[in-house]
Amino acid sequence: MSIKAYGATAADAPLLPIDITRREPGPHDVQIDILYCGVCHSDLHQVRSEWAGTLYPCVPGHEIVGRVSAVGAHVSSFSSGDLVGVGCMVDSCQSCPSCDESLENYCTGSGFVGTYNGPSDDAPGHTLGGYSQSIVVSEKFVLHIRHDEKDLAAVAPLLCAGITTYSPLKHWNVGPGKKVGIVGIGGLGHMGVKLAHALGAHVVAFTTSPDKKQAALDLGADEVVVSRNDDEMAAHAGSFDFILNTVAASHNLDPFVGLLKRDGTLCLVGVPEHPHPSPTAFNLVFGRKAIAGSLIGGIAETQEMLDFCAEKGITSDIEMIRIDEIEDAYARMLKGDVKYRFVIDSKTLADA
Ligand code: NAP
Ligand code: ZN
Repeated sequence: MSIKAYGATAADAPLLPIDITRREPGPHDVQIDILYCGVCHSDLHQVRSEWAGTLYPCVPGHEIVGRVSAVGAHVSSFSSGDLVGVGCMVDSCQSCPSCDESLENYCTGSGFVGTYNGPSDDAPGHTLGGYSQSIVVSEKFVLHIRHDEKDLAAVAPLLCAGITTYSPLKHWNVGPGKKVGIVGIGGLGHMGVKLAHALGAHVVAFTTSPDKKQAALDLGADEVVVSRNDDEMAAHAGSFDFILNTVAASHNLDPFVGLLKRDGTLCLVGVPEHPHPSPTAFNLVFGRKAIAGSLIGGIAETQEMLDFCAEKGITSDIEMIRIDEIEDAYARMLKGDVKYRFVIDSKTLADA
């Protein structure tokens, strides 16, 4: 099936309309009409080849929500008309120790197959993502959406920003009695604030943008710190159980390590183009502190996060765009000028 999409043919080329093909659904496949797709900073990193290995044409998009339009003969948990989501993965080896624990995101067999830029038998030989009218995905990698249909556009970012923050918050036991920092109040960070608050923690938002102070409180932060203000930072020295760092650019981590309690953890989820300067060992050894990382989340945990958010009424704060506004959206995302996630209205692809 030939459909419309938006993609780039080179790292320095703008995103433009392209026609792509989707396979006919196989016995275990779900075919989805895409209704909305979130715009993640990873889309920008990859389409501009800021990380190694981008394959062109590149059609980004891994915060996909839509409606099932057809299912294969052996699909048991989805039917035509269902509202569903697809996140950052569309396949994995299904047999390694990580896949056995539903941690497909850490698949050590073939590695997980990304929703775009991953290996594929379908043309053009790599996967093409959600800046497109439809997608065909193996049933195992499709999620049920249980929010109200009217909230669907604001659910899209949960498929990456939501799970990428939920998974480490759960892994490091964030909850009542814990003091938690969220660094960078962008797409991931604003979900981190909402989720850490919903999990019952005392939440401190760290931002480089003083004008986001009130907005961060409105998201559920108990306190807000402008991270470039040394006095505001010093007031929190040695007090955090856990800090989640979502910043998309290289920066000095030492000031955040200094805010951890003994045995505290600074977890990185931001993956900047250029590495952070090496942290100072002294700051880690005095206090047995850890710097860790976390990558999205497994399929079972993604469903758990979606259901948790549906139950608590949690969605993303979004600004809807037309697909032909995507380059402008990227420029604004680079300036931190979005509250807090752009979401593409996929019906605008019809005019592309
Ligand atoms: P985003 O919406 O652009 O948010 C990043 C935030 O970082 C900005 O809003 C800004 O918040 C802060 N920031 C501070 N200095 C910055 C600078 N010089 N340049 C850019 N941002 C700066 O990005 P996102 O979509 O949340 O993604 C954040 C990072 O996580 C990206 O690197 C992305 O690739 C990565 N990511 C990782 C995973 C994973 O599984 N680990 C999954 C998805 C995305 P303030 O204005 O509040 O300072
Ligand atoms: Zn993402």
